[in-house]
Amino acid sequence: MSHLRLILADQLSDSLSALADVEADDTVLMCEVMEEATYVRHHPKKIAFLFAAMRHFAAELSDKGLQVRYVTLTDPDNTGSLTGEVERATADLGLRQMIVTEPGEYRVCQMMESWHAKLGLTVEMRPDDRFLCSIDRFTRWASGKKQMRMEYFYREMRKSYHILIEQDGSPTGGQWNYDKENRKPPAKGLVSPTRIRHPQSAILKEVLALVGTTFPDHFGTLEPFHFAVTRAQALIELDDFITRILPHFGDYQDAMVQGEAFLNHSLLSSYINAGLLLPLEICRKAEAAYRNNHVPLNAAEGFIRQILGWREYVRGIYWLHMPDYADLNFFDAKRPLPAFYWGGSTAMACISEAVAHTREHAYSHHIQRLMVTGNFALIAGLDVKQVQDWYLSVYSDAYEWVEMPNTLGMALFGDGGLLGSKPYAASGKYIDKMSNYCAGCRYNPQEMTGKTACPFNALYWDFFARNRNKLEANQRLPFVYTTWDKFSPDRQTGIKDQAASVFSRMAQGLL
Ligand SMILES: Cc1cc2nc3c(=O)[nH]c(=O)nc-3n(C[C@H](O)[C@H](O)[C@H](O)COP(=O)(O)OP(=O)(O)OC[C@H]3O[C@@H](n4cnc5c(N)ncnc54)[C@H](O)[C@@H]3O)c2cc1C
Ligand code: SF4
Repeated sequence: MSHLRLILADQLSDSLSALADVEADDTVLMCEVMEEATYVRHHPKKIAFLFAAMRHFAAELSDKGLQVRYVTLTDPDNTGSLTGEVERATADLGLRQMIVTEPGEYRVCQMMESWHAKLGLTVEMRPDDRFLCSIDRFTRWASGKKQMRMEYFYREMRKSYHILIEQDGSPTGGQWNYDKENRKPPAKGLVSPTRIRHPQSAILKEVLALVGTTFPDHFGTLEPFHFAVTRAQALIELDDFITRILPHFGDYQDAMVQGEAFLNHSLLSSYINAGLLLPLEICRKAEAAYRNNHVPLNAAEGFIRQILGWREYVRGIYWLHMPDYADLNFFDAKRPLPAFYWGGSTAMACISEAVAHTREHAYSHHIQRLMVTGNFALIAGLDVKQVQDWYLSVYSDAYEWVEMPNTLGMALFGDGGLLGSKPYAASGKYIDKMSNYCAGCRYNPQEMTGKTACPFNALYWDFFARNRNKLEANQRLPFVYTTWDKFSPDRQTGIKDQAASVFSRMAQGLL
């Protein structure tokens, strides 16, 4: 019996479970729909990357002899929604049986589950085995645990996949984690290595024109555009990263440098999340580079931990707690997102830099996301939904399953500690230590109060003071409240007044 096999924009993998036993008389459906392109106002580079990668993937499937029904955004019959396109395809082709791979997002899963009742289709949903930990396995691992920690999950994953594990089962080098070696402040002269620029195919040029005219008012610049849009190109980037850049990945993983958007980060997340690269092949290549003495252990382990550990862990947390997770707001944070997140002017050099990278590249690296834009949102008590919408809109690697736990859980502690054990709150002193931003900023990271005091400083203490009832018992914040209590009443009042002044200037667009 013939089947309709739906491939979503982030399922561009030959090995996708929905394609496993595809027959010549099946039809593969791929569609560009307005609903998905605009449910948040995605960065134009993200839309262009996905449409171009989808079109190339569809062409590759056709070249292999598969029947592909590809619906472009401008197709006059395009209904604008996934459900509409499935309905139209099944009616046109006379098919009632569908095969899909489980989608990354809860929202889309609900949509697919409605197709049986709504459209009278039989939908077979297969697990997404590109992930290294199935949702069932994560649920079993989590079951009965009072407190889950990524580190223990990661060790299990290392053992399961035998990555950086010795014959006797011990971790390579004797330690599970070399993170302590990966937190160096930027060395003088630290710059980003050059990056590969892929030639633009005819398909990509057409997509760039389409995106430029259709989404002109979405935040972000479309060109120059250098993303890989095929697996072959993504593999070139992966190999280049492993050869030239991974050896330096570890040491300065947390560093930030003015004018340097990428430093030694891999820039692979968009490709992994869309399916052009597979997490296991990346981890294996990184391990091989270590075993061949090409990459130091702290770099290989640190990089593998992000993919085999964090990436799988956040997905597990998402599916374990959805749909309730989306409504959590531990601190009841509701302050409107200031205009400077969308490129409005601010004198805070660190924020201005992170937003500029985001606008230009649909990218900023992890520490900018966590300790600059995320940290500010946390300590200023910005509205958790608005902050999440921002992260989901502006990054080319953003999908709710990975964005939400990172934003709501890791950056905002809005889940009250389901993902992380303490809020990643930091004052300007941390940013000053880990970057060279402060030297060029109107504000001074050493000052707590006054016109030129770094806004992060007073907000940091104000955050802990106003959330004392929720955080005081947290074992991982041993010195925060003892230090605060040692401040004189005048000092405490001065800090609170300063925070109020920061909020007032922020509301007026004067920060
Ligand atoms: C507030 C916030 C929002 C984020 N939103 C996203 C998002 O929408 N999509 C996304 O893929 N990542 C997100 N991250 C995680 C991380 O910042 C990005 O994966 C990383 O910056 C991508 O750049 P890179 O490929 O150069 O990563 P590298 O630094 O080179 O790391 C290697 C790989 O590890 C994986 N990885 C690293 N950290 C994480 C993490 N915390 N969670 C999941 N995977 C991780 C990625 O696949 C990444 O490509 C977010 C982090 C924060 C703090
Ligand atoms: S002084 Fe404060 S606001 Fe300015 S760059 Fe440093 S941390 Fe950011």
